[in-house]
Amino acid sequence: METLVITNSCHGESYGSRNTNLAMMGFMTYAKYLKSGLWERIRRKVFAQKGKHCSLCPSDATLIHHNRYHLVDLTGTTTEHLWPLCEECHSFLEFGPGNAKKPLHEAKATFLRMQETWFDFCANL
Ligand SMILES: [Zn+2]
Repeated sequence: METLVITNSCHGESYGSRNTNLAMMGFMTYAKYLKSGLWERIRRKVFAQKGKHCSLCPSDATLIHHNRYHLVDLTGTTTEHLWPLCEECHSFLEFGPGNAKKPLHEAKATFLRMQETWFDFCANL
């Protein structure tokens, strides 16, 4: 007999499972979540913790990027996977050629690669 095991670690690693998590929290769309008081509080908390500078370049940050959408991220229980970014870096992460939205795992891989490059650059200043 096959057993389906759903762990929190795979719940929120795609836009589909993000939407499932949001629905469990009572948000029918991601747009509604982004307009909520909850997201506004999380956003302010991340800027306070990590600063208002882009995590990937010298620009000022204007938004908070999600590297994943587990329940603990969406509820603000942890801010470990949320990062202040500028518009330009964010667009580069999330959109490919022809402005096509990249899958979440691809955006995440690009983020981690750019972050490593940026940390190396800063370490050598
Ligand atoms: Zn940037």
